Order: sequence, then C-alpha cells, then structure tokens
Amino acid sequence: MFITDPEERKKLWMEAVTAVEYYYSQLPALPVTGSLNGEEIRSEIARFRFDKPIDRERVFDFVSRCFVTYNTHTISPKYFGLFDPAPASIAVAAEFLAAAINPQLSSWAQSPFAVEVERHLIRTFGQLFGYPESDSDGTFTSGGMEANHTAILTALARKFPAFPDEGVQGIPDQPILYASTESHHSIVKAARLCGLGDRAVHRIPVDRSLKMEVGSLRRQIEIDRGFGCSPFMLVGTAGATSSGAIDPLEDLAAVARSNDLWYHVDVAWGGAVAFSRRHRALLSGINQADSITIDPHKWLGIPRGVGTFLTRDKTIMNRTFAVRTAYMPRIPDDLARDPFCHSMTWSRRFSGLLVFFVMAVAGIEGYEAMVDRQMELGDYLRSELDIAGWEILNDSPLPVVCFTGKGVRASGKAYLEAIRDSVVASGEAWISITLLDARVPALRACITNSSTAKEDVDRLINALKLSSY
Ligand SMILES: *Cc1c(COP(=O)(O)O)cnc(C)c1O
Repeated sequence: MFITDPEERKKLWMEAVTAVEYYYSQLPALPVTGSLNGEEIRSEIARFRFDKPIDRERVFDFVSRCFVTYNTHTISPKYFGLFDPAPASIAVAAEFLAAAINPQLSSWAQSPFAVEVERHLIRTFGQLFGYPESDSDGTFTSGGMEANHTAILTALARKFPAFPDEGVQGIPDQPILYASTESHHSIVKAARLCGLGDRAVHRIPVDRSLKMEVGSLRRQIEIDRGFGCSPFMLVGTAGATSSGAIDPLEDLAAVARSNDLWYHVDVAWGGAVAFSRRHRALLSGINQADSITIDPHKWLGIPRGVGTFLTRDKTIMNRTFAVRTAYMPRIPDDLARDPFCHSMTWSRRFSGLLVFFVMAVAGIEGYEAMVDRQMELGDYLRSELDIAGWEILNDSPLPVVCFTGKGVRASGKAYLEAIRDSVVASGEAWISITLLDARVPALRACITNSSTAKEDVDRLINALKLSSY
C-alpha cells in the first residue's frame, strides 16, 4: 500500500501505465457507449468484500476491464457530446506528479512553489481575457460550479459588505441576480448554496439567436427595483452549454455599470477561444467583467477537477473568504498569499500543475492551433449537415451544432430521440438531444475532442443518414 522500496515502486507505476495503455489501445475499436446494465455492474463490484487483501494485478485487471466494458467513452474521437474532451497526455503525467508529491495548497508556507505557479497562471489567464496584469486575481477551483458559486459569493460581499459577517440576514432587501434562460444551471444551484434560493435568480429571455435580450433585462431590473428588491449581479454566458450562444457581452457590461451590478461572465467551455488570435474577438467586452469562470477541464483538455475563477478586484477574494486561525502555518500579515483565505477550499491538490505543464510544453500557440482546428471542424460539420438536408437551429460560431430534420420542429421530439438512440446504438458516434429556449428539441453534436477528424464527422453524418430512414 505504502511502498518504500524504489524498485518495487517503479514496478507499480509501470503497472498503472500498462493499464492506461491497455484502455487507450482498445478505444478505437470500441463502440462509444458501453454496457449500461446497472445490475451487472453492481454485482461485479459487490464481489469485493474488502475482508482480505487481493493481488494488485487482479485489481488492475478488474478495473481495466470494467472501464472498457462499462463506460461511455467520452475521450473517443467519435464522442460529440457535452464538453468532455480527451485529456492532454502531458497533463495526465502532471497529475501523477502532483498526486505523488502531494503539496498542500491551503497555505503559502506549506507549498510556496505550487501557490506561486498557480498565481502566475491566474494572472496569465486574466491577461488572455484582457485584464491588466496589475489587477488580475482569482483562484483554481474544482470546476465551473465552484467558480460560479465563488462569483456569487464575491458579488454579495462587494454589494453587501455585511454579508461575510452576517450572511443573508445582513442584506436588507431581497437580492436578485440575472442570467439568461440559456445559462448553466450551476448558477441556480450556486444561488441555492449561497442561501439565496432559486428564486433569487431571474432568468432573462433570449432572442432568436439564444442570446440574452438586453431590453428584457433592463425592464426586469426596473420591475425588481419597483418591488423594493436589490439587484446585485449580472451573469453573461459566452458559449451556452446547449447551443454555444454568446450573450452580447459589451451591452451587458453597460447595463451592469449603469445599475451597479457585479458583472460575471461564465465562459466555462467557450473561453478557450481567448487563446486564438483569429477567434478571440467573439468574446469582446469580456475584459469589462468583474469576474470570469473558465474551466481548464473543458475545452482546454485538462483532466477533470480543474476550473478557474478570475477577477479584476484585487481585494475581494480576501474580503469574501479570509478567516483567522491560530493553527495554520502563516506568513504574518500576508493574507493575500494564503489560498485558504483566498478561496472556498481548504486542503486542495495542485490543480495548477496540470495547466502549467501544458502551457509550458505546448505554449499558448499549442492551444491556439487546437482551437482553430476544432473551430474549422465545427464549420465542416455544419456544412455537411446542411448538405445532407438537416436544418441547423443555432447560429453559434463555436463548434457545437443543434439541428433537426427539415419540417420536424417542435412536435418531433420522439422522432429525434429515435434518431439519437439509433446513432448511439450504432457505436459510430455519440450525440445528444437538447431543448433550445426550453421549447425546441434539437439533436446536438459538439466537437469536443482534439483528435476528432473529418473522417469521424463523415461517420457521424452517415450514421445520421442510416438512422433517419
Ligand atoms: C460545464 C459548464 C459549467 C459547470 O462546470 P463544471 O466544471 O461542470 O462544474 C458552468 N457553465 C457552463 C457554461 C458550462 O458549460
């Protein structure tokens, strides 16, 4: 379990490598979806009683086999689902290093190198989104959910200075935040976790392009003020989860400014376009956001569990999260450097190392090439669907396409589900179904994998054709 002999340890590391390579070698021949037989899976697992030790070879063997059999292979180039990319190999190696050395990222004094690496990356990300170097702060998070939760907490602390001490009871009127009907539901969940509840989130209707309607937003703010509520935050979405819609970020910035709202932009997956000189103008206006959610574990291909929260307010993290303790190793009077006073987590792994390795080895240009390639492949997918007679329902420039059969529209949900099931059952591709504007059912295909190629798109088009007869 805890191996001290170096030779024996190396042998173990190699067994893990062998298990990974076994899975990777099987992947090309596997249908994208494995068995979903829950009873069978539970009975396989239940054989482990943990009442006596088992040879680790057998455990490796069991786990490898189960991953091959009982898994939706989201890292396959044939997977066109939600943003679940194959992890960058170099980041997987970095994950191993981070786990083996296991630095403690709660306090600066415990792991000064790790904390400073993350601070450097947070500033670099901030600059990619147009933040000035001197005004860039933030933290690594477990994902977009935690980053959006952090955003609401910081917004509350800024607008209602009593909030960190007194909680929601320190807020005189009903606080309200705004997000579009296409925004991610982690916003609603985060509002709940902040003690505000779902109803504190006013979801603003979208226009035909599924972008937040700015006129409706302005009217809703007026109405809420009329009822004596306290609007405190506006969330723009850039790269909506379903449709890839990008809210009008400049207009939202103006509304936030004139209403004194904390302006947060959730660009969890779409944020990767900031790495591309050709495409970053899609996010123009994002530099005016008080805070940003960008998930390295989405389009940037970092293994799961790595998000980031960026802010241009240098003091808000400490105002929101700092607590005093006697037992933590501290650098006196330098609160700003201690992650436990600077984020919602306490003990945390070195997530930043995974990003550091990719950024150092591939450079920003490595991500730029990846994003440009996937944007082009998205265009190819759109044009092939069009040629094959499908009707495209979203107009996002991002590589996510929502489509339906010509003349199918709102009534055809069951028809689309049958097509989706048949495509998935073919094993040739994995696509999903979504509802646009909560009404219009659509098939959804997204280029999530950096090694997805034109041939994979062709196979998807073919599977769709065979499924729609
Ligand atoms: C995925 C996603 C989230 C949630 O992020 P997790 O990393 O899954 O917690 C939030 N917002 C958007 C726009 C997303 O696409």
